[in-house]
Amino acid sequence: MFLKQLNRLRRSLAFRLTLWYAGIFSISVFLAFFFFYFLVIDVLRSQVDDDLNRQLRAFAGIMQVDGLEGVRRIALQETQTGGEAARLIRLLSRFGTEFSVSDQTYWRNIGVDSEAIRRLLTEGQPVFETIGIPDAGDSLRIIYGSIGPGIIMQLGQSLAPQMRLIQAFQRLFFITMAAVIGLAAVIGWFLARRALSGVGGIARTARRITQGDLAVRAPVSRRGDEIDQLAANINHMLDRILELITGIREMSDNIAHDLKSPITRIRGLAEVTLTTSQQVADYEQMGASTIEECDRLLDMINTMLVISRTEAGVQELAWQAVDMTLLARDAVHLFETTARDKAIQLSFAADEPRQIHGDAAMLQRMVANLLDNAIRYTAQGGTVSVGVHAAPTGGVEVAFQDNGIGIRAGDLARIFERFYRCDPSRSQTGTGLGLSLAQAVARAHGGSITVQSEPGQGSTFRVTLPINADKIGEK
Ligand code: ADP
Repeated sequence: MFLKQLNRLRRSLAFRLTLWYAGIFSISVFLAFFFFYFLVIDVLRSQVDDDLNRQLRAFAGIMQVDGLEGVRRIALQETQTGGEAARLIRLLSRFGTEFSVSDQTYWRNIGVDSEAIRRLLTEGQPVFETIGIPDAGDSLRIIYGSIGPGIIMQLGQSLAPQMRLIQAFQRLFFITMAAVIGLAAVIGWFLARRALSGVGGIARTARRITQGDLAVRAPVSRRGDEIDQLAANINHMLDRILELITGIREMSDNIAHDLKSPITRIRGLAEVTLTTSQQVADYEQMGASTIEECDRLLDMINTMLVISRTEAGVQELAWQAVDMTLLARDAVHLFETTARDKAIQLSFAADEPRQIHGDAAMLQRMVANLLDNAIRYTAQGGTVSVGVHAAPTGGVEVAFQDNGIGIRAGDLARIFERFYRCDPSRSQTGTGLGLSLAQAVARAHGGSITVQSEPGQGSTFRVTLPINADKIGEK
């Protein structure tokens, strides 16, 4: 169990980010320390070298003034005041033979480097070297330099104080590094968890949606960072998907309802006729009604197919020149009787022939659907007018205006959906497919339909069609 959790943690992005952060941070600090360390060592060494050089020059001065005796005297004083371990002073001939040396107990193993003397004599410059004294854990920095004619001085100085400083520096380095790694890990973990907290929320949301809870949404904080934008986009996508699912659900409910009613009627009539009638006339009546209902069903199914094919662009259109003025006038003539039955005043207005390229039969269905709606959704005694004009944006505009029941703002956006009907009780006849077909036809001709409506005041549907519809339609 614990191992499993550890494994999961090891694979988590937060853990890997923390590791990277702590790693990079620690390496940076290590490098900074590393350079500083060598800088300190270099500065300390050049300080010691300067010091030795200065002493050498001082002895050379004493040699000039007081001679060898003066040098010996001062050397003795120096070693006594500095302590035997602090200083080595040796006087040598130019062949390296020792003729005077300070108290040597501490430095007894330090000999004379003939190679250093050779270099001094050839280069004429003081020569430095460092010698370790492992037993004492100490080191010695030595200078060989000439202080008078034929007299070489070997001057050594313990590096113990400098080494103590370097050791203290090393201790500080290890403590600081441990603290830095620890701090970097904690800060890195905190930052990674904070940055990725939104991702966890999104993952939890996805899990709950998979389990069937479609209403849940990813949490969006007020930070407004990339993760918040991702969460907001996912939420937006989920809203859209839910909207589509609801639409599909409603549509299938509507299809089921609209197909069920005629079938129920056919079945009811057949049952009643079979159980109660003995007359041939009743059976004839049943046959006629069944044909009528079946025609309605077939018409509905066919319309659905035509809409789908037209929207998908696979419906063959018979392109030809069509005079929209003539086509609309014929439709108005056709609906005159229906309008008269409802005492609706039906009028037509057009200034001149308006020719476009299109499929006459499809355009007739479109105009008939819009005119049929205008009359059906207008009360007795109302007015319906149809007009054909030049569209303001070019092409032809066919307008259908009524002073009927109108459409609520909430319904306006949905009336072109298949099977959508504003009156859920379906008190009016209709299938909810008329406007979907009209829009599919307008779009197949490169046009569009717009609607303006005011509940209780009436509606105006405007179809705009381009003149060269066949070219757009063939694309
Ligand atoms: P339907 O067969 O129900 O008329 P449509 O697709 O033609 O189907 O229209 C969809 C819905 O739009 C109708 O059910 C109706 O509620 C509303 N509608 C269409 N035209 C009008 C109009 N001229 N006036 C008021 N409502 C309308």
